[in-house]
Amino acid sequence: MNYDYDAIIVGAGPAGSTAALYAERRGLKVLLVDKKHFPRDKICGDAISGKSIIYLDELGLIEALEQAPQVMVDSVVFSSPNNTSVQIKFIPTVYNNISNGYVCRRIIFDNLLFQAAKQKVDTREGLSVENVLVKDGQVYGVRGRMEDGREVEHTAKIVVGADGFSSIVARKLGLYEHDPDHMLVATRAYYKGVTGMTNAIELHYVDAVLPGYFWIFPVENGLANVGLGMVKSALKKKGVKLRQAHIEATRSITFKERFKDAELLGDIHGWNLPVGSKRRKVHGNGFILVGDAAGLIDPFTGEGIGNAMCSGKIAAETIADLCEAGRFDEAALKEYSRRLWKALGSELNLAYRLQRTARFKPLVNLIVKRAAEKKEISDWIAGMIAGTISKRELLSPLTYLKLMFS
Ligand SMILES: Cc1cc2nc3c(=O)[nH]c(=O)nc-3n(C[C@H](O)[C@H](O)[C@H](O)COP(=O)(O)OP(=O)(O)OC[C@H]3O[C@@H](n4cnc5c(N)ncnc54)[C@H](O)[C@@H]3O)c2cc1C
Repeated sequence: MNYDYDAIIVGAGPAGSTAALYAERRGLKVLLVDKKHFPRDKICGDAISGKSIIYLDELGLIEALEQAPQVMVDSVVFSSPNNTSVQIKFIPTVYNNISNGYVCRRIIFDNLLFQAAKQKVDTREGLSVENVLVKDGQVYGVRGRMEDGREVEHTAKIVVGADGFSSIVARKLGLYEHDPDHMLVATRAYYKGVTGMTNAIELHYVDAVLPGYFWIFPVENGLANVGLGMVKSALKKKGVKLRQAHIEATRSITFKERFKDAELLGDIHGWNLPVGSKRRKVHGNGFILVGDAAGLIDPFTGEGIGNAMCSGKIAAETIADLCEAGRFDEAALKEYSRRLWKALGSELNLAYRLQRTARFKPLVNLIVKRAAEKKEISDWIAGMIAGTISKRELLSPLTYLKLMFS
């Protein structure tokens, strides 16, 4: 069969644009499509953490990010339900020696990545993919609709579903399933005039949403990205109304002073976060899933951009290898799953453990208190964030006993 492309990537968020950029480096012929036009917003906390920076660095995009409207952050503040807080300075990561993160609104960040990809590969904005093309059980392209109603088809050796939580690619191929135990739901709103903002991202473990948290992140021009998220099954069990809980958090004793003169800009939006506490199937005959379509968000921190970019890179490299081998069947594409879980499996397991730990209020109180009191513990948390502590140590229960009771 004569294909139009080696790969068609459906969705040009961080997963899709990253996949396109790495695929182009390997000489693949790529089409990157999105139903929206860029720049476009995405509901998010906008925190661009250490892992994302690895790929931005490799792709030569750090300078572009630093020139864009953003805030460079140097630490994280954790606070516990009983109101103890600790500020932990970021240390150089094991990956790239960079010790800061960024908060960059997604309308800016995603556009930066997309425009970089647009310079290198074919792109179509305003093309909503409606179905995948399948022959004899093998996916060989996509069918979509342009905004003027025109139907279009493109063929490729491999289709990459990078189309986020509601992934049409996953739906059409029978891989769309969301278990409320493995999904977070969160709000996001921008405010003007929140006081006490610094160059730290703030994660507040407020009682109402444990094991989730209330966040306040600094955005450029003195704005704040504020949100609140929790596990969907816990939300149902506790009967929490998320929007209401968001408003109540801003009016709570702890935060009301900081929000006294704050102005909500626009609405409080809510969206879903498919987390990687469950291994979903992410490949099949002629297709793979990346980013949120594959459900790769960190179940503890709610961060998904880094893992989306990581999966995009692994997808591109696997597709390049398979194009050389001329194999696009399910057995060959299993290689993508193998590489993906090798890269992310153990850290997602650890994050799930941490999320489960955070269900117990006294334990969260204890950990934050101990970190505030003991430098050894706050240093250890900084090392965990920076990836300088070995996975073996991170996964050992003995480590935690030693830290808590030393
Ligand atoms: C409230 C909230 C806060 C969050 N905070 C953070 C944070 O601070 N830091 C962090 O790292 N992560 C955060 N996340 C997670 C993060 O937003 C996601 O993990 C990340 O956006 C995943 O990237 P992606 O490229 O897989 O998907 P997306 O960013 O969702 O991109 C998918 C793209 O696919 C396109 N698309 C969808 N359907 C079609 C179709 N049929 N045809 C064509 N195109 C299509 C969409 O238009 C979109 O551009 C947060 C999530 C939420 C909901």
